[in-house]
Amino acid sequence: MLNLDSSIKYVKGVGEKRAEMFNRLGIFDVDSLLHFYPRKYEDWTQTKSVSESPNGENAVIHATMITPVKEHMVRRGMTLYKCRFSDGENIINVTIFNNKYLAQSLRIYEDYILFGKIEKTFTSASMSGPKIEKADIAARIHPIYPSGGKLTSNIIAKVVENALDCTDKIEETLNKEIREKYNLILLDKAIRNIHFPQSAEDTVQARKRLIFEELLTLQLGLLKLKSSKKKENSYEIKINFNDEFKSLLPYKLTNAQNRAIEECIADMGKKNPMNRLLQGDVGSGKTAVGAGLIYTIFKNGYQSALMAPTEILAAQHFESISKMLSATGIRIRLLTGSTKAKEKREIKSDLIDGKIDLLIGTHAIIQNDVEFKNLALVITDEQHRFGVKQRASLANKGINIHTLVMSATPIPRTLGLILYGDLDISILDELPPGRQTIRTDVVDSSYSKRIYKFIKDAVARNEQCYIICPMVEESEDITDLKSAEQFAEELAENDFKGYHIGLLHGKMKPKEKENVMNAFSNGDIQILVATTVVEVGVDVPNATIMVIENAERFGLSQLHQLRGRIGRGNKKSFCILVSDSKSENSRNRLAVMKHHSDGFKIADEDLKARGPGDFFGEKQHGLPNLKIADMLEDIETLHLAQNCAREILEKDNNLDLPENRVLCRQITKMFRDIQY
Ligand code: ADP
Ligand code: MG
Repeated sequence: MLNLDSSIKYVKGVGEKRAEMFNRLGIFDVDSLLHFYPRKYEDWTQTKSVSESPNGENAVIHATMITPVKEHMVRRGMTLYKCRFSDGENIINVTIFNNKYLAQSLRIYEDYILFGKIEKTFTSASMSGPKIEKADIAARIHPIYPSGGKLTSNIIAKVVENALDCTDKIEETLNKEIREKYNLILLDKAIRNIHFPQSAEDTVQARKRLIFEELLTLQLGLLKLKSSKKKENSYEIKINFNDEFKSLLPYKLTNAQNRAIEECIADMGKKNPMNRLLQGDVGSGKTAVGAGLIYTIFKNGYQSALMAPTEILAAQHFESISKMLSATGIRIRLLTGSTKAKEKREIKSDLIDGKIDLLIGTHAIIQNDVEFKNLALVITDEQHRFGVKQRASLANKGINIHTLVMSATPIPRTLGLILYGDLDISILDELPPGRQTIRTDVVDSSYSKRIYKFIKDAVARNEQCYIICPMVEESEDITDLKSAEQFAEELAENDFKGYHIGLLHGKMKPKEKENVMNAFSNGDIQILVATTVVEVGVDVPNATIMVIENAERFGLSQLHQLRGRIGRGNKKSFCILVSDSKSENSRNRLAVMKHHSDGFKIADEDLKARGPGDFFGEKQHGLPNLKIADMLEDIETLHLAQNCAREILEKDNNLDLPENRVLCRQITKMFRDIQY
């Protein structure tokens, strides 16, 4: 007797050997088998005659076999079997390749359905290697599974069929009310029909239910994270000081900045802590939004903290925010790894006494033994790849403070909804006026001398330059890729002898990195050879040129982040993408960089070219894999599922009710592989 948790090897038609092949497809038990969905279908129910079937296309033909099979051995290992069929009007010459089993099973004068490409001439019709099944059983919709090696789609279909009775044991996850409201069929029926639909409408209904199910589970999982954070009370911010803040600035906030500040202050006026993501392209002015919140918190009598991923960034924020809020009496301190022990002690005691209003520093400032008097807001800057995992860990600390995460990763809005289903989002979709665009060019490596000359001219004007290489060490199989280390050495010895060249890569110690960045920042290094470690937030306005080697190796969004390091001052900036790739796809992708400067547009293009999985890389976004829902195509269902998830949680915040038991288990299963 099979159960849902029976091992796959006990399903009829499997056994030890095939079980291993199934394992490789991620199928271990009956349950995972039933959730292994067909990739597409072949509809064998709508048969046509030869004359009705368009030449060169897939045809489904009901025909009688009219000659016995003739065997032709072409060479060793290649045998052809030929025979003829008639649809009552025309003759079809059929060739079967190497499939002795099929050839021997065919019986003259019996009826079959042939499925495959048909080639027609004036006098004849032929099919090479069609699928052939007996007419009485073949006229159905055939599921086509993603197959692997010897495990063909046909075998998988057969095995699924043998386990299909187990659908009786599938427990329904959604109550009648929800099923009716969202017009969904029963789960067990959906599973049966996704594998063996009777009609096209069946597949539509089955897909609808399963996509909904999957997105609902995902959203519930994410919303649960969010609501578990929401239980606590936090400081309620009663008065909005945004107008006063605006009067302090030398410029006018963009509409987007203003909207984001208002959204955040409204959030913080509620009992529950704010938990918000501020998403804005490089240069969209996220710091000012942060400062605006900090000001309102300060005027309400509470403390804030601002965390940056590096000391350099922390120091930069300290400088710019101190300047912005200098006339207000706000007391700001900077705490990083290099703060002296004595000063550290002083800062700590001042924090407890409430003599500091804003603490800026690296992540260590809330992790260590630092205590505040009344910390109400924590802002995290440039949390570049801020996955579900990290957010959950912040939640697990049980900190009942308002949090704002600032991110420059331009995530297409649709995906943001999914990825950050547990966060509220504010988006800065507008750049401050008067930004210079960065001139971007794509060249091949034959231009290197000209590029070097260009760099030397810039250095002569006291400007600085980045040269970006894809990886650190010379890799064995990709010998022509320029490794940062080797490249920096070569440049220092040859073309740039006598220049100050620095090297920055991910394998260096944090302290070494800081030193190099500091040296670049204060102009001691003229040319910085680096890997993508400079991608995150650094601001050296004097750097005006960025050369990116092997540019085709980077994702577009990554190139955009990198390019955002230049064009930050008032000088004209240039980005040079070097690529010898001949592939048309690469060239088109790099051309996108030349013509677009909007991170969201670029992200959309990137997404189109690479698909969501690749776009984020599973590890980066830390989201579960989806089996059937498509992040881009099923956006409408996503909204419905989001809606439904909220309704469910409204009634049963913790999913404790018996009716939600199965859903709860499903969430655990989906999020099982993500460790918090
Ligand atoms: P990012 O979003 O990349 O962190 P920053 O906060 O570093 O951007 O801002 C980039 C630059 O834009 C800073 O020099 C900042 O002073 C300036 N800036 C921010 N907002 C405005 C505005 N509304 N008008 C003009 N300049 C602005
Ligand atoms: Mg920034």
